[in-house]
Amino acid sequence: MADVELKNLKKSFGKVDVIHGVDLSIKSGEFAVFVGPSGCGKSTLLRLVAGLEEATSGTISIGDVDVTRVEPADRGVAMVFQSYALYPHMTVEENMGFGLRMTGTDRTVIQERVSKAAQILHLEQLLARKPKQLSGGQRQRVAIGRAIVREPKVFLFDEPLSNLDAELRVQMRLEIARLHGELGATMIYVTHDQVEAMTLADKIVVLNAGRIEQVGAPLDLYNNPHNIFVAGFIGSPK
Ligand code: ADP
Ligand code: MG
Repeated sequence: MADVELKNLKKSFGKVDVIHGVDLSIKSGEFAVFVGPSGCGKSTLLRLVAGLEEATSGTISIGDVDVTRVEPADRGVAMVFQSYALYPHMTVEENMGFGLRMTGTDRTVIQERVSKAAQILHLEQLLARKPKQLSGGQRQRVAIGRAIVREPKVFLFDEPLSNLDAELRVQMRLEIARLHGELGATMIYVTHDQVEAMTLADKIVVLNAGRIEQVGAPLDLYNNPHNIFVAGFIGSPK
């Protein structure tokens, strides 16, 4: 668990400014959701927190630590991607333990953490399977399991459910909500799905062209959007 603090964070790719001085504070244990149109910088902002992109200027702190120049593996974050990115030749168990093996974690610790994560995600019966023997929802669970075993302070999700069909999406959304309740970890979640944002978030961050338009609890934004853009995104469900 950790506070995440962004201060005047900027990111440019070449001459193109993509994130324009974002200030944002996410409390320990909070579920923050980034929403906004395609190309507004949601993934870039998440990747900056993860350390997968280097900030052009500004700072990122997690807990009391300035992680702006810290390597991704040492930031205490774990990211779950939309595309699962599982290793096809490894079993579920090996996929979940892989990151820990790479950091030289003790074998028994890996086993304990994998079995705990498998229990949380209802994957106990599937540990010996390969990814191609799993459904989309099960694959996404393994991808989440891979993050859980690292025991991160902050979970980062980039549109984790957008490859799933509508029914599975609802089911996995409920699971992610349950997971947040169970783990009590700080979570930052990117989506363009309004229902996901409204139901999962403690705090919604509405982004537009690399800037924050408004931050607030779902009902605050819904009842009191500061401008037409926010109203269009949150205030008027499609
Ligand atoms: P979102 O996730 O909200 O759809 P992104 O963060 O992926 O948006 O992208 C924001 C902007 O930054 C887009 O205009 C995109 O083309 C640009 N961008 C993202 N990554 C790169 C990169 N590696 N090189 C150049 N431009 C990029
Ligand atoms: Mg994106």
